[in-house]
Amino acid sequence: MQEQKVISFIRSLYNTDAFIPLHAPHFGGNEKKYLLECIDSTFVSSVGPFVNQFETEIANYTGAKHGVAVVNGTSALHTALLVCGVEKGDEVLTQSLTFVATANSIKYCDAEPVFIDVDRDTMGLSPNALEAFLEEHSTMRNGSCYNKATNKRIRACLPMHTFGFPCRIDKICEICAKFGIKVVEDAAEAIGSELNGKKIGTFGDVGVFSFNGNKVITSGGGGALITNDDLIAKESKHLTTTGKTKHSYEFHHDRIAFNYRMPNINAALLCAQLEQLVHFLSNKRKLAEQYKTFFDPLDGVELRWEMKGTKANFWLISLEMKDKQARDHFLRKTNENEIMTRPIWQLMHKLPMFKHCLKDEQKNALYLEERIVNIPSSYKKNG
Ligand SMILES: *Cc1c(COP(=O)(O)O)cnc(C)c1O
Repeated sequence: MQEQKVISFIRSLYNTDAFIPLHAPHFGGNEKKYLLECIDSTFVSSVGPFVNQFETEIANYTGAKHGVAVVNGTSALHTALLVCGVEKGDEVLTQSLTFVATANSIKYCDAEPVFIDVDRDTMGLSPNALEAFLEEHSTMRNGSCYNKATNKRIRACLPMHTFGFPCRIDKICEICAKFGIKVVEDAAEAIGSELNGKKIGTFGDVGVFSFNGNKVITSGGGGALITNDDLIAKESKHLTTTGKTKHSYEFHHDRIAFNYRMPNINAALLCAQLEQLVHFLSNKRKLAEQYKTFFDPLDGVELRWEMKGTKANFWLISLEMKDKQARDHFLRKTNENEIMTRPIWQLMHKLPMFKHCLKDEQKNALYLEERIVNIPSSYKKNG
């Protein structure tokens, strides 16, 4: 592949000679208006109308019954696992090919991640690998699933939708139901993505989003849980608001809980961003199509596209290189030329804190680790 040609193309897309980031936020709506409303009202912190408004709107948008806004995606994952009953010494099945927060959140519960391979096409948790692992290594006792070798309870499964491409979450949920395992969807990257017309994040017992500055919509820092389960919603809210019981002036807290509630000022920004989400998604899809037209005729590189029956949000547009050498060359050339590109994450089971964790063969994860890169995917102002 001729990198120079790629560099010129990306510069022409964004119409600039300056540094091109991987994913910059875009504030084109009511952001300033809502932020000023916060400041003028003095409600900038943990009380204020934008938090409740956002929780209602995220539920409406995704079709979930409840939304709970929190300080970031990582705390949303932590809370989701806790409300699904993950306890000290449990195992949680997840993928090694993910951002570190996924695996960290399991450790926050004093539980152990077990790394299952991904599918090569979706880059998300493989239902076949999941089922193979459970059939070989698990046994049921009193309706709960246990790992025969470690004697630990397998309480939850935490699949992740890589770069906004939906994984086979319907199959994963089917398998987990059979084994009595709760499903938390790490949809941090996948707001707006769909499988068979249903929003990603609404398949599992709980879905989790991130609104960090580099995600599709942002509150500066922020996250949310969505669920159809009334009890899970109630527990999530309680656990993320210091476990305070309702009283107009007395302090009573019924457990050790967290201060994870999203401040009103972040929610104000997020309400303005959510109003533009549909527009952002069509802008990003157009960008992805332009990239596709450019890359499809080129040899030695493949633009990753959504699977049949799914809609990706195209958070980060992804290329598959023919091998690690080609990947390294591409990353070097583009970054040298002030175009930010990035490899997919180093696999979790190679990191010092997770290298002793159980895992399966990881054939597809290892394949993708060597080949996948992300290219500039920001909202295009002239798009
Ligand atoms: C961004 C992200 C998170 C964490 O979200 P924060 O808001 O940064 O805490 C978790 N999982 C995945 C897959 C992510 O991409």
